Amino acid sequence: MFNNLSEKLDKALHVLKGHGSITEVNVAETLKEVRRALLDADVNFKIAKDFTNRVKEKALGLNVLTTLQPGQLMVKIVKDELTELMGGDVEGINMSGTPTIILMSGLQGSGKTTFSGKLANFLKNKKTKKPLLVACDVYRPAAVDQLHVVGDQIKVDVYSDKGNTDPVAIAKAGIAHAKQNGHNVVIIDTAGRLAVDEAMMKEISNIHEAIQPQETLFVVDAMTGQDAVNTAKAFNDVLNFDGVILTKLDGDTRGGAAISIKSVVNKPIKFIGTGEKMEAIDIFYPSRMADRILG
Ligand code: GDP
Repeated sequence: MFNNLSEKLDKALHVLKGHGSITEVNVAETLKEVRRALLDADVNFKIAKDFTNRVKEKALGLNVLTTLQPGQLMVKIVKDELTELMGGDVEGINMSGTPTIILMSGLQGSGKTTFSGKLANFLKNKKTKKPLLVACDVYRPAAVDQLHVVGDQIKVDVYSDKGNTDPVAIAKAGIAHAKQNGHNVVIIDTAGRLAVDEAMMKEISNIHEAIQPQETLFVVDAMTGQDAVNTAKAFNDVLNFDGVILTKLDGDTRGGAAISIKSVVNKPIKFIGTGEKMEAIDIFYPSRMADRILG
């Protein structure tokens, strides 16, 4: 993952890494290269520009050129800024509420159902959690079946009501079912469309309002680059969600979405999906991701 960006940034920073003493020209040229590497990785233009400006200001403030190892200091500044850009600290899921209600949102194919299963499995493995998955896609019976398959696989109960066409009613009934059966986490998988549309936004917003989840997560396919950022913005405008799940990072060689999303919607990326299997889930650590990107 991120090989491309990583290689490019590494190349851009190479001059600095290798030099005992660097000049203002070196720094300016390197920052230009860093900016180019970010743009090539599908990072939004303004974000890339602001990023290099911040690095430059910090470098000037610290009098980088007069320090003993200016190159290393520059690399550290770039890493710190990159970490900050992706969220700074790690942010967990709000597990308050009995049960904790987690609402999943996102486009069809983003990996919502798969991630719902991964999250249920992740929480189940914590021993103190007994999750329930709720299938709220009233348009695609296959999506409901898929959630049952996932539930069977990880041995987590799934609530569904195939004849029911009211997703709000299903979500509420699912929560009641959880309370009756001692589930302390309810993960609600919702329907998605292939593109953002008014009907879908209205539906998810109705569910959100009716069940008042502790945590609303927006799932997005990292491979969709700039589109991922636009979709995140559209969902955030309606749901004011709490966190982002970036899926399919195993297939992404650009990584621009990870870098842009936090800046655009100002919401943390909380987990990443790194494969199709139920175990392919990782907490998102901004500093680790920055390390990975910088190589
Ligand atoms: P939904 O329509 O949003 O519920 O999306 P699904 O959960 O059905 O996922 C769509 C496709 O993406 C499926 O084929 C999944 O196996 C695949 N998928 C989901 N998450 C990941 C991931 O992190 N990495 C990879 N490579 N594939 C994924």
